[in-house]
Amino acid sequence: MLRKCDQKQQFLLPLNLEDFVPENHIARVLNDIVDVVDITVIESTYSKEGCPAYHPKPLLKILLYGYLIGIRSSRKPQQMTQTDTAFMYLAAMQKPDFHTICRFRSTHLGPIKEIFSQVVTFCKEMDMIGSSISIDGTKVKANASSRQSKSSDALEKEIDKILKESIETDKHEDEIYGDSTPYHIPEELVDRKKRLEKIKAAKKKLDEEKLKKINITDNDARIMKHKDGSKKPSYNCQVAKHTLGYKPTIVLADAGYFSYGNLEFLQEEGIDAYIPDNFYKAEKEGKTRKFRKSLFTYDEEKDCYYCPAAFEIPFTRIQKRKGEPDLRFYVCSYCSQCVLKNACTMSEKRTITRDPREHLMENMRAKLNTEKGTEKYQKRMSTVEPVFGQIKQDRGFREFLLRGKRKTGIEFVMMCTVHNIKKMADFIKREGKNLKGMLKMIVGGGSKGWSKGGIRARITNTLC
Ligand code: SF4
Repeated sequence: MLRKCDQKQQFLLPLNLEDFVPENHIARVLNDIVDVVDITVIESTYSKEGCPAYHPKPLLKILLYGYLIGIRSSRKPQQMTQTDTAFMYLAAMQKPDFHTICRFRSTHLGPIKEIFSQVVTFCKEMDMIGSSISIDGTKVKANASSRQSKSSDALEKEIDKILKESIETDKHEDEIYGDSTPYHIPEELVDRKKRLEKIKAAKKKLDEEKLKKINITDNDARIMKHKDGSKKPSYNCQVAKHTLGYKPTIVLADAGYFSYGNLEFLQEEGIDAYIPDNFYKAEKEGKTRKFRKSLFTYDEEKDCYYCPAAFEIPFTRIQKRKGEPDLRFYVCSYCSQCVLKNACTMSEKRTITRDPREHLMENMRAKLNTEKGTEKYQKRMSTVEPVFGQIKQDRGFREFLLRGKRKTGIEFVMMCTVHNIKKMADFIKREGKNLKGMLKMIVGGGSKGWSKGGIRARITNTLC
């Protein structure tokens, strides 16, 4: 026996859009969140006159939902509003064309960033965020070809080439048209002119910022080495919860964030930091070729080092540095008679340098070497590192769609917003919470005294 199948059947009851998506579908979570975010900044840009525009909320919903499922173009969501029930539900059965979606995104890039902050605040109010923050970064390819990254000389050569070609074309045109004017400028000339303008702008930026190379298509992108060894024009995207509105108690970050300036700042702020230096891992794993510096003991009182052969290494000289404290040098005089020399140095005398802030690194290493320190630092692996895996693998975010620092920054914020929405969806499912009820409490002021205005004011103050 087969089930009846009739494509011409008539509905007897009116359709309910909510029936388009299952109860626990992530589109519903996204829908409920966007329903309560404050978009007065976006709404204020709409005119009361003329033809009614699409409401910004459905546009925002389909745009964010697209990012959530790995669709970032404007044309695909247009199609999906006609074929995909989740898109139909979010768009409230409206069918904005891709021009409208694209224009909405580019016009409201700024406020979209504020929406990210509001979502973070919701997460915080739902007690999903602790006072410990993990910081990390990942490289994402720019929307530009590597071949368009050029040095100053290469740019000058290309400018000369285009100018020569333009002179040739002008001559050719003069021969054909004489003193009369053709009714349109040839396309190749328009293209050449546009390219010349682009190259000149790139050259200007390269000179101003004293860069070695610049990408003509996206001037803000920089050539970066990726994990697979390839070099591509890219952006380095940093992830941390910097819109919390309060100071974290713990900060976890990898060696890329180690600097004496950072450690000093965190110490002054009373934040418990776990950040190894660049050589910490190699030294710990014994991967250094010669005796590592940590085998030499510094004596603060005598201002000298003691080497592994127990010889005293006295302070010898300083080296002046621009914008940094003087670097102190300690040179050993016993190396020529030492049996450990081959394992210690290839030079005649072993030299140890010391930055006056080096105690910060030593204290950090000591802290990381404790059981508690190792355990805390390991937490990074389960907090911030999977974020990039999910964003890149699950949502296919391996290359930017937009160009320029501002636009790519916002595009990344959108990816982070949908990542947090997914986190919220997982949280309410795991904890069996009622999202609508919780959001109502938060924006209605029922949670810890928050009010809608309160959230906005606080977010505006904490935007980076
Ligand atoms: S080579 Fe020099 S610095 Fe190294 S262990 Fe021997 S005496 Fe000490």
